[in-house]
Amino acid sequence: MIVGNKKKIEILKQIIRNDNVPHAMIFSGPEMIGKKKIAIDFIKNIFCKELCGECYFCKSIDCNPDMNIISPVEGNIEIEEIRKAKERLSLKSYHNKIKALIIDDSHLMRKDAQNAFLKMLEEPKGDTLIIFITSFPEMILKTIKSRAQEVKFSLLGKEEIENHLVSLGSSLQKAQEISLISSGQIGKAINFFKDNDKMDFFNKSIEDIISLSTSSMSKRFQYAEKLKDDKMKIIEILDIWERFLRREILLKVFNYKSSMNNYSLAKTKEVIDELEKIKYIIESSNVNKRIAFESLLIKL
Ligand SMILES: [Zn+2]
Repeated sequence: MIVGNKKKIEILKQIIRNDNVPHAMIFSGPEMIGKKKIAIDFIKNIFCKELCGECYFCKSIDCNPDMNIISPVEGNIEIEEIRKAKERLSLKSYHNKIKALIIDDSHLMRKDAQNAFLKMLEEPKGDTLIIFITSFPEMILKTIKSRAQEVKFSLLGKEEIENHLVSLGSSLQKAQEISLISSGQIGKAINFFKDNDKMDFFNKSIEDIISLSTSSMSKRFQYAEKLKDDKMKIIEILDIWERFLRREILLKVFNYKSSMNNYSLAKTKEVIDELEKIKYIIESSNVNKRIAFESLLIKL
């Protein structure tokens, strides 16, 4: 079941009803809001107009030879993968419908990999569809953008997330608690709900930033050392810190008791700016994650 972004999903259904599927699309918007799931369902919908849930296409989209998904490996999408995918796209549709390719985190394609699509997009042959999924659409080449139809997805409302969690069997209170800390990202909310450890991790990460901000440099480096180059974990921690610090700002502005008394309002803002910068670098490039993370820890 897909939650939120109802209007956008309606537009996608309309495209299929009108038999107006473009050759290239960009699904953009924040991380963990279900873009990939929406893309898969969109393709499923091309194969089964009723989305009946019963037929071969609805049940086994994952092994449908007419659909292919590329995901990055260690923060990179190799041009070789693109070449193979392009070859598959050029074959005749097995089910006589469409050949589709989804590229997840497509901003992680380097320029040469992105360029490899240009010819295909300039002179599309047969019924092909490429969906570029990205949370950084500004990193997709203009030449691709101008040939693709972009659909922009957004964060979900608090109530949408709560309702969905309740429909998964959560109590209302727990759903409210989780929606508060998942900042509009349904994927994150579901992870929190399914996994108690995630909640503990959330709380532990907040304790960490509070204590790190008064720790010696060697303690800070030890902390970074422990995480090594674990991109997902570092991003998870940065996300949690960012939300925590934003809340701190509100508390300070309205003169409530905040958790970090050693931080002034200006300092809190400064750290958030730095944090956003580092997060962007880690997410969108191939830098050494630990070193980037250390440069933030020094400034806490
Ligand atoms: Zn079906």
